[in-house]
Amino acid sequence: MADPRRRNPKDRGGAWFVDSTCIDCDAARQLAPGLIEADAEGLSHFTREPRGPEEERAAWLALLACPTASIGAPRGAVPPEGLYPHEVAPGVFLTGYLSERSFGASSYFVPRPGGNLLVDAPRWSTRLAEALRARGGIAHVLLTHRDDVADFARYAKAFGARTWIHETDRRAAPSATDLLRGEREIAPGVRAIPVPGHTRGSVCFLVDDRFLFSGDSVHWSRELGDLNVSPDFTWFSFEEQTRSLERLARAASFEWVLPGHGGPGRAPPGEMRERLLALVERMRAGQVREAW
Ligand code: SF4
Repeated sequence: MADPRRRNPKDRGGAWFVDSTCIDCDAARQLAPGLIEADAEGLSHFTREPRGPEEERAAWLALLACPTASIGAPRGAVPPEGLYPHEVAPGVFLTGYLSERSFGASSYFVPRPGGNLLVDAPRWSTRLAEALRARGGIAHVLLTHRDDVADFARYAKAFGARTWIHETDRRAAPSATDLLRGEREIAPGVRAIPVPGHTRGSVCFLVDDRFLFSGDSVHWSRELGDLNVSPDFTWFSFEEQTRSLERLARAASFEWVLPGHGGPGRAPPGEMRERLLALVERMRAGQVREAW
């Protein structure tokens, strides 16, 4: 629970606040842009009190997402019902309840006629599990790589779901039922595309040739208004990641990128491909900088 005695000094002393336990995962700023911003150290604070129901809802979304419970609400206030899952693209929902173990990586719920998907996993929340059950539960847990697995095993067990991860990242998910090697179809309209680089076993999941769940392999930067990667957080090989993204640009068509870190981004498929190829060129030229 957030501690008002440890509030970020940049907070204005209002009823909403962020305390000093913030780990700069950026999730709150994606969910409540303009209302929650970063200070010079990258730690979040409220720029002002929420105005009206929409901004209050954004503040509650951030509070329930925060992996470190760093966000405080007005004393006695309770969150509205049904905040999560929260739709961020047509038919694609953020789960909230991020995990500190995955440094606040986003995970997504995707209802599908052939069985619902959970892409990467949040921390366990009974409230979230009940909300997902009310929407038909989970048939497949799709893990983009070893870092963002959080409490996948509890969700998989609770819903009897199959769990997919690339075989070279399998140590993060020993209970996985299905190991990925090459590119393959997991379910109708759901394709796994290995993209080694961030980790050796990184995978993107492409749904309906429209939604690319990209884990930590590529993200949409609010700062740049463009696709970007993170050289500082590439654990396996930046050169391999460059080659992987070039292959991805030629093999996949998508309109939305839905990453673990960084916000969702949207552009027409042709433009997305051009942006991805331009990013590959910047990677080859050493012209990429950290930008979220
Ligand atoms: S979600 Fe929590 S930890 Fe992440 S940036 Fe916001 S306040 Fe900080």
